[in-house]
Amino acid sequence: MSTDPTSAQAVIRMDRDTRFRHVDNPFEEMMSRFDAAAKRLDLDPGLYQVLRNPEKQLAVSIPITRDSGQIEVFTGYRVIYNSARGPGKGGIRFRPDVTLDEVTALAAWMTWKCAVVNIPFGGAKGGVICDPSQLSAAELERITRRYTSGIMSLLGPDSDVPAPDVNTNEVVMAWIMDTYSMHVRYTANAVVTGKPVAIGGSLGRREATGRGCMITARAALRHLGIPVAGARVAVQGFGNVGSVSADLMAKEGMTVVAVSDHTGALYNPKGLDVADLLAWTREHKFLSGYPKAEAIPGEQLLEVDCEVLVPAALESVITSKNAGAVRARIICEGANGPTTAAADTILEEKGVFVIPDILANAGGVTVSYFEWVQNRGGWFWDEPTVNTRLEQIMARAFQEVLEVAERHKVSMRVASYMLAIERVAEIHRLRGLYA
Ligand code: NAD
Repeated sequence: MSTDPTSAQAVIRMDRDTRFRHVDNPFEEMMSRFDAAAKRLDLDPGLYQVLRNPEKQLAVSIPITRDSGQIEVFTGYRVIYNSARGPGKGGIRFRPDVTLDEVTALAAWMTWKCAVVNIPFGGAKGGVICDPSQLSAAELERITRRYTSGIMSLLGPDSDVPAPDVNTNEVVMAWIMDTYSMHVRYTANAVVTGKPVAIGGSLGRREATGRGCMITARAALRHLGIPVAGARVAVQGFGNVGSVSADLMAKEGMTVVAVSDHTGALYNPKGLDVADLLAWTREHKFLSGYPKAEAIPGEQLLEVDCEVLVPAALESVITSKNAGAVRARIICEGANGPTTAAADTILEEKGVFVIPDILANAGGVTVSYFEWVQNRGGWFWDEPTVNTRLEQIMARAFQEVLEVAERHKVSMRVASYMLAIERVAEIHRLRGLYA
């Protein structure tokens, strides 16, 4: 593997870091949504306690030798929130301010996300407290390998399957797979997803989250009786999720009227040429300076007149302060947690149809599941097969959440949590308690 320090930026993209904001108590914040749904389900109080507590939390110390020859000790976490439905599934992030509370919240989130799309995974998450911009690629590799070795007791294709998250990518996944394989003495590619295709990654994974957004947004348009062709779309964020969403929505005949990234926002009520924007960002990296559209202030993007708004950048961008100004009929949450709970209430009153994050952006984990299936079967699918199966799962999940929403007269957000919690609860009821 690469030991070239100059490739550190190729290993890790620090620009992803800009989108995170500090939340004091992320676990309680996440669980407030859980509680709202759990109340409606009238869960047995004992089962409620089971679902409200993480199954396993592991903290490991990660001593490595820096390139300078000095030893430095880092800290890493891995949390399996719930494994009733299957192996823990969830990414690993490298960030200076990772906390156990945050990792636990994200592991819970993964539990509900996997359950909404009904894939046989539980929820997990990992993190290492480090600043990748201050580390060479060789140091990063040593941290990754020592962290992997530290969490070996949890890892395994049948017990816990990590994936990339903030500041980790397919190179890091390859190191994890290799380290795990060296320990177990055989090549175990199903232990991580998000690997390079050459070592067992799945075709279609890069586009999967944006594709899922497109599929659910299209389903919402059809449900509301709005023609897909010509439906106007505004997309916040032009990274993996945002750019693929914009591209695939345009290919479905929708009109992308606004896009933004952290360098600026662009607007054209007649429609932007998404293929041209993609070519521009391939060359110039960011949207700023794009000459063929009007530049608007970034915050205005959320208030553009459109049928579909796709927040696909940051968390907590739609708040009680700006929710009233949203003009979209549908919000398709490509990002995790873009809408605050207070904003949810305002949007509901306005009749905005919100496709919640745990449904809208579950395409990524769904194709991760496909990767794991392909690894375990040793039989690799072509891209059309991946996309067709993704479409089936996302379309089905949308309909299932919609049915719960209509039956209980609740928002899609509450319905998605109700469906997820009930699915996990049902497995616990069937399996009973081991004592
Ligand atoms: P990315 O790093 O590829 O892209 C993020 C984009 O957001 C960039 O274009 C960046 O410029 C933009 N951005 C940052 N600050 C902004 C601002 N203030 N205004 C407008 N744009 C801004 O990240 P990604 O993988 O596309 O992830 C985006 C979101 O989707 C995150 O919340 C992530 O957790 C979530 N998500 C990603 C996946 C996945 O498969 N990549 C899966 C599920 C959820």
